[in-house]
Amino acid sequence: MDPARAQLLRQLPQVDDLLRHPELAPAVGPLPRLLAAAVVRRVLAAARQTINAEPLAALPPQLDAAALLHNLREALLAAAKPRLRRVVNATGVVIHTNLGRSPLGEACLASLQEVASRYNTLEYDLARGARGSRQDHLEGLLQELTGADGVLVVNNNAAAVLLALNTLAAGREVVISRGQLVEIGGSFRMPEIMAASGAILREVGTTNKTYLRDFEKAITSETAVLLKVHPSNFRIMGFTHEVTLTEMVDLGRRYGLKVVEDLGSGCLVDLSRYGLEREPTVQETLKAGADLVLFSGDKLLGGPQAGLILGHREVVEALRKNPMTRALRPDKMTLTALEATLRLYLDEPRALAEIPTLRMLTRPVAELDRQARALARRVRRRFGARLRVEVVESEGRAGGGALPQASLPSRALAITAPPLPPQELEARLRQAGTPVIGRVEHGVMWLDLRTMLPEDQEALMAALEEVLAGVK
Ligand SMILES: *Cc1c(COP(=O)(O)O)cnc(C)c1O
Repeated sequence: MDPARAQLLRQLPQVDDLLRHPELAPAVGPLPRLLAAAVVRRVLAAARQTINAEPLAALPPQLDAAALLHNLREALLAAAKPRLRRVVNATGVVIHTNLGRSPLGEACLASLQEVASRYNTLEYDLARGARGSRQDHLEGLLQELTGADGVLVVNNNAAAVLLALNTLAAGREVVISRGQLVEIGGSFRMPEIMAASGAILREVGTTNKTYLRDFEKAITSETAVLLKVHPSNFRIMGFTHEVTLTEMVDLGRRYGLKVVEDLGSGCLVDLSRYGLEREPTVQETLKAGADLVLFSGDKLLGGPQAGLILGHREVVEALRKNPMTRALRPDKMTLTALEATLRLYLDEPRALAEIPTLRMLTRPVAELDRQARALARRVRRRFGARLRVEVVESEGRAGGGALPQASLPSRALAITAPPLPPQELEARLRQAGTPVIGRVEHGVMWLDLRTMLPEDQEALMAALEEVLAGVK
């Protein structure tokens, strides 16, 4: 090795000396010694690698000790924070799968505090003083809300689809329209879930048009299920034809087949009354005669991650007896948060006011406009000429499956911090103590108000303060 490189490597401090370094003390102090030492070793290894990889001509004459200390401090501070943490969703996408889908409201948190932190009746029947079923807690409530007579809750909607098809159609055929073989969010592909369930896929029709006769022609002695899937995040427009659920139910009855609908989002209230696009509700889908209706707990329902399976009692019973159900069962946190969410639906105005997802979807644009203006004033007062902020008309989205195209008129703050390019501002906000996630639109950083919770304003001010620290 040439002497210049060897000299730089020798200048790298020892792990123990760094752990005792006064400038690092505030960052080292809160960490367990083992973790702090691991972080220091990792940063030193990276520094060593950089020195080894640098061409001779580019090597600095001396080790940049200040830069090394800076990197160490950042890495130590990052290690003290949990990885899964709160962010401010300023994207305008309400049901944002990457950002945790539906935030839980007060009622859910209270139930988690009361039930999940203590012993509870998860599988205990108080009346009999004996073992009960975790599946019984939500049955009455869901029957009341939807008219279903059979109810089963699993870990998520993908699990619901898997369980339904495995129970009803393993080794047999499931007929589905080609236009509904969708991929949702990259991790859920209908054909792959069907294959994993052991069912054999029989796709019929074309991407844009499927008729009842296509279904009927595909039915053989091997057919078990007619499946309808909400296309969720895409839409075929123009020259189209779809088979209605009612037609599928008629056909199923004639041939003795089960009809299953995967609704995806599963809406319990008709949101078209609040200015959103019309979506078939769970109640309507059950009334149309589907044997099973499947949907997520954390999309339009606004509760915790869960898969809800509603339908005819004897069909749901068959699913309950499948050993796979044991592997897909929900835990006490899911069940108590789901019960708290569903209880709010007994009183629709309360559901709209207290379930954060529904609240955000139905906030009138006039309210967002007022909030945006007040927040812009606050930002101007606090940061003066260091920031430029304007209120702009934006478009939010429901996200997460149903209502994909539905654009929600909204308001955003368009922010520029003059010396910082917009991408740099976006990156710094994303890496703030409480990260703020927005988007760069027309070359400007946009923060959409529709998805910001009341307590997010404080976090945004703090993030802007951090971003501007050090900007001249
Ligand atoms: C979202 C979605 C799923 C997957 O639901 P998860 O709860 O995320 O497992 C399945 N089918 C459809 C139609 C969906 O929209």
